[in-house]
Amino acid sequence: KLSQRLETVASFVPSGAVVADIGSDHAYLPCYLVHQGVASRAIAGEVVKGPFESAERQVRTEGLANKITVRLADGLAAVQPSDYVDTVTIAGMGGPLIVSILEKHPESLQTVTRLILQPNIHAKVIREWAMRNSWALTDEVILEEDGKIYEVLVLQRGPMTLTEQEMLFGKFLPMRKSDVFIKKWQREYDNWQRVYAAIENAEPTEENVQKKQELTTYMTWAEELLR
Ligand code: SAM
Repeated sequence: KLSQRLETVASFVPSGAVVADIGSDHAYLPCYLVHQGVASRAIAGEVVKGPFESAERQVRTEGLANKITVRLADGLAAVQPSDYVDTVTIAGMGGPLIVSILEKHPESLQTVTRLILQPNIHAKVIREWAMRNSWALTDEVILEEDGKIYEVLVLQRGPMTLTEQEMLFGKFLPMRKSDVFIKKWQREYDNWQRVYAAIENAEPTEENVQKKQELTTYMTWAEELLR
């Protein structure tokens, strides 16, 4: 059975899609998508040999080798123009790593119309990348599983303008204010307070002064949000 986290990612894959799952590890997501009849074909990309081999094994065990191609490659280098991939999923990594993967081989995104990204942390940098590169958020989900909180971001091509607050908290998530959302930002808020207190007792270097200013801004935003 797929984790709730990956099931959420899967729920945004359009029917009939040709999917590239980058950093696929065991290829659970592409196998699930093809089994469910959602994806017509899939590429599972892995840069590390061990996970690449488990992906190959999984695909073979499930009898899906005719529909899923497993490739050992760095990020989007796993995608070739002749694949006609229309949907890319990248899950279970930090936001900065996801962005570096998206930036390294932009040519691989030529046929892609949808990105489904699941950063474990720092979703903000993905929203910033999306705005700079004309990808617009169409949906966002926040969920908790096994004590960890995850965000899923769904993007399609198009212009998007976000405020600084929307970059941090999300475009759709703040309006919905789910319990998990509140929990995440309450946690972050408590964390910012701790960091702030620690900086107050440290040297007033320029860096520390700046950090304090940033934290004050974030905390003010969070107070408005959590009120
Ligand atoms: N996507 C799966 C999930 O969400 O359950 C696996 C997540 S796992 C924590 C991250 C995987 O990404 C690892 O298997 C790692 O080898 C792979 N990875 C990290 N950087 C990568 C890159 N530049 N290109 C391809 N795979 C990468």
